[in-house]
Parts: sequence; C-alpha cells; structure tokens
Amino acid sequence: MRSPGACARRSMMWTEFIGNRAAVEHLQQLAATAGRERHAQRTLVLAGPEGVGKTTLAVLFGLALNCQAPPAPGEICGACASCRQAAPVASLPELIAAAQAYRTAEVKTSARQQAPLRVALHPAIHLFPPDGDFLTMAQARAIIHQDEIQPDSGQSWTLIVPDFDRARWATQAALLKTLEEPSPGVVILLLARNPGALLPTVRSRALELRLAPVPHAELVAALVARGQNAQTAELMARLAPGGPGRALTLDLPGYQQIRSEALQLLRLGVAGDSLATVFRLSESVRASKEKFESLLEILYSVLQDIVYLQAEFPNRVGNVDCLPELRSLAQRLAPARVREVVEGLDRIQAAAQRNSFRPLALASWTLGLTAEGS
Ligand SMILES: [Zn+2]
Repeated sequence: MRSPGACARRSMMWTEFIGNRAAVEHLQQLAATAGRERHAQRTLVLAGPEGVGKTTLAVLFGLALNCQAPPAPGEICGACASCRQAAPVASLPELIAAAQAYRTAEVKTSARQQAPLRVALHPAIHLFPPDGDFLTMAQARAIIHQDEIQPDSGQSWTLIVPDFDRARWATQAALLKTLEEPSPGVVILLLARNPGALLPTVRSRALELRLAPVPHAELVAALVARGQNAQTAELMARLAPGGPGRALTLDLPGYQQIRSEALQLLRLGVAGDSLATVFRLSESVRASKEKFESLLEILYSVLQDIVYLQAEFPNRVGNVDCLPELRSLAQRLAPARVREVVEGLDRIQAAAQRNSFRPLALASWTLGLTAEGS
C-alpha cells in the first residue's frame, strides 16, 4: 500500500512485472502509439524461456491498449471499467481447464472442430492455448475470424497465442495473411520459447522481443518486496531459476510435500526396498493426474540437482533446503546410472501422456533403480 490509489485499483500494472525492463518499455511505447499510428506494428513475437512472464506481458499490453483512463500514454490505470474487467493471469490454468471441461460436457466429439479452445481473460483479450499438444487448425481459423470482426470503438482485440513455436508449420502458414496485416484494432501476440521453430515467414512479419531469464538477485528482491521472508525468497528463486512467473505461483509447502515423496522413491529404489513399499507409495499418487505430473517434474528437478552435485556445481542446485539428502543420493548413484534413471522417467512421462497405468509404471521404474544399479 505505497500509493494512495492502491486500494482502488483492481488489475495488474506494468510496475508489477518483474525483470526485462527494456521489453516492458518497448511495449509501453507501442501501446502509447498504437491508437495514433496507422502503420504501428500489430504482430509481435514474445520469445523467452518458460516462466519468464511472456503471457503476463502480453496481457499487460492488451490492458494498456484498452485502458480508458491511462495516467500517461501506454500506462494502465487499473481502475477504469476496462481494467476492472480483467481476470488475473494466475487464473489462466483454471480458465483453460474450465473451457476444456465445458467443451467435453457440452459439445459432441464430431462438433469440436467448430468449438476451438479459447479463453478470455478480458472481453478484448483472448488466448488460444495449445489444444492438446499444439494450436489446431480450428483455432487458427478462429483467430482469422476474430481478426475479421471489428472491435467496439475504443477496444483493441488482443489475441494471444501461447506456445506458437509448437504449432505445426501448416497451421502457422494458414495464419500468414492475418499476421501480415491484422485488421485495424487487432493486435496478435505470438509467444514462443524457441523462436527458431517459427516459420521464417512468420518471423519476418512480426516484431520480435526477447525476454531473458531474470537474474537471481533481482528475483529474490522482487519476492521479498512481495512479502516473502529472505530465506523463503532465496529458496523460491532457486527452485524457479530466472522465472518470476513460476516463482510467484510456486506453492512451496505443496512442492516440499511431493518432493519428500520423490526423494523417498529414489531412496527406496537405491536401497532396494521391498516391492510392497514401492507399490504403496506409488499408489498414493494414483488419485490425481495433476499430482502425478508434479511428482514427475519434481523427480526431474531432484535428478538435475544430483547431476550438478556429481559435476561439482553445487551453487546451481535448486533444492537447497534438502542438500544433505541430495549429497547422499549423489554419492550412491553412479553418474551413468542417473542418466539411465532419467531415460526411464522420460519413458514414464511418454506413457502417462497415453494414459497408461501410472502407479505401475512408477513402481517398476523405482524397482529398476536397483535391479541393474547396485
Ligand atoms: Zn484503465
């Protein structure tokens, strides 16, 4: 509560964005001139690693374009009728899940082509997240169609396409004409971890802004400024290196609880513990696909730390709050074995995507740790 207007504002502000000031300022300038310049760039690529804030920045840009009372050109007031209609970016996973659930319940399989996955974070800010693994042709058609609809006066359609680098080339190509020159009042933001996977003809039509991982000290300071104590902020920044989006949404107690199960799995495997124990543990993740995926992700992060310790890069370790245990595992697992264990996890992850029986896969993986390893 530093500014007197703080209690009146509802939406996110530019100043809340962590890191990458140059990109932020560039977008503010674009937002300031977008209304006035007929030839303003309206197709943008935001490129950068996962969790760095690409979606947040794209939404901020949309809010700035639609703000009805910007304190200065390109700014966001946070309190006007438009700003107050924005849902928080943090609610995006729930909104996507709700959109998917609605479609599954209400739309017949044969008609899903006509119900492409899209989510509105604001009446004028629409996202087209990967439907399955990537943007579908039906979603591309929805973007083209949206581009053809004239927004209400004073509104700017902001169409955001996360993971556009995962879209098939045919889908990217289908959008070329729209990306070449979006209609007046329409801005298209393509988000990409790997802009090299975009069609060259897409990149040549867009203004590309690169977001870099946020330096550790800057991330820690930002977390402290948001009320975390120094020790927790340090740990969160370690667990989400360079990624403020991931750090801010990290549920630390939840993470630590699942990690203790991940460590137990590794311990059981290395110690050659009984089949029954392994089954009991892996049964515990049976209930929830989400938890199972978290467990896999955390196993990867723990194994990554073990590799860092074996390679003598201890200052790269993320899970610093369980360092003694990691050191012990690093001593007991041969480096070649760690590689095989990671490959085994890759297979489990692939199987999980095909909805194979998950607990059994984990149990056999854990047993495999000892079978050949000791
Ligand atoms: Zn506003």
